[in-house]
Amino acid sequence: MKKVWILTILSISLTACSFSSSGNEQQSKEDVPASSQKESEQNAADKENQSSSSEETEEAPAEEEKDTASEKTEKDKVLEDGTVEVGEPESVQVVVNKTRKLPGDYVPEDLTVPNVPFYFTEDHPKKQMREEAARALEELFAAAEQDGIDLVAASGYRSYDRQKRIYERNVEVYGKEETDTFSAQPGTSEHQTGLAMDVTSAQVAFKLEQSFGETTEGEWLADHAHEYGFIIRYREGAKEITGYMYEPWHLRYVGKEISTDVHEQAVTLEEFFGLYPSDE
Ligand SMILES: [Zn+2]
Repeated sequence: MKKVWILTILSISLTACSFSSSGNEQQSKEDVPASSQKESEQNAADKENQSSSSEETEEAPAEEEKDTASEKTEKDKVLEDGTVEVGEPESVQVVVNKTRKLPGDYVPEDLTVPNVPFYFTEDHPKKQMREEAARALEELFAAAEQDGIDLVAASGYRSYDRQKRIYERNVEVYGKEETDTFSAQPGTSEHQTGLAMDVTSAQVAFKLEQSFGETTEGEWLADHAHEYGFIIRYREGAKEITGYMYEPWHLRYVGKEISTDVHEQAVTLEEFFGLYPSDE
């Protein structure tokens, strides 16, 4: 029983999204849209990818980030380990990644449940997004429906404490070094901002997998998400920059102006704000 439970924790911790934000770990397995051999293989790949990318991102000199195009870094605080605690976590433009962390006590004040279909029916904190993002998501879903696109929401807000429990459990089992190669440290998940939502569709059996990007829903999102203030946060081929593999399902709200610019420039959020590459 314990082994199954541990494997479940591991399986939901392997991507930036981690699929689940259940308040009850023992129910986590049900929260994962689906478990399949293919997904296991993908997770194994994620583990490998994130191992190499995390080594690279750690080299980024945090102090250099102050002199960038992002005005949002002015209040950032450089921590002892060289990473940054973001100074304005409530900004819809906040950049969160493996070297730019959210404060542990940051909980968005305006979390609400967007009125969109989810792949599960029960109440759950992960249905939440911040107010502005939730309204934008509703507009996006409505526009998609008009175009005959059936989107389903999977996972939004996830608390620092929830991520911390997952991470610490993995450290107990695998040790810190091994854990850091596949499990997001607390504070580094964009889902804690309340500005992210994982979206999927029946075409991929409501899974969060890369093939979603090739479905009509995934293609529609790539073409139109920016019109409603969202970007596909983890672009294909940008693992070295974002720290994560391609996630066509992970939408991040940044507001229409930035989302449009990011879309037109076809860059990552890190590049858009001049956070990558860092100067030597
Ligand atoms: Zn996600």
